[in-house]
Amino acid sequence: MRDFTDRFLAKVTDAEGGCWEWTGHIMNSGYGRFWLDGEQQYAHRVAYEVLRGPIPAGLVIDHLCRNRRCANPDHLEPVTNRTNILRGEGFAARRARQTHCLRGHLFDNGNTYVARNGTRKCRRCRANARSRRSQGVTCVAA
Ligand SMILES: [Zn+2]
Ligand SMILES: [Zn+2]
Repeated sequence: MRDFTDRFLAKVTDAEGGCWEWTGHIMNSGYGRFWLDGEQQYAHRVAYEVLRGPIPAGLVIDHLCRNRRCANPDHLEPVTNRTNILRGEGFAARRARQTHCLRGHLFDNGNTYVARNGTRKCRRCRANARSRRSQGVTCVAA
């Protein structure tokens, strides 16, 4: 067993909401950094693996508390990368929650298809674009 838990716990402090806030180095990404076996690791991943067990392959750790500095395993959950992005507040998350297309058509099951790059597209707009083309009207790239 690697004897680093004391070193690790010395860098964690109780914070609001029950978070274990990392007081060591914070990476540009906002996550805590911990040196282990000569490699830099994410502090929250180390905490999870020590206290809960190995993180299943292919999964990332999601912060349920949305505090990236938090290393409390109760606030961490291994999820797929996609779930993590959907839960986040980034651009991709806003896009995935978008309910209407650029022209105001509702993204419901009947009106939505997924393009090769993973973004949702509006069938009505595609149909409109096709009929414009069939009428000989050149469509300016959207
Ligand atoms: Zn937390
Ligand atoms: Zn549309």
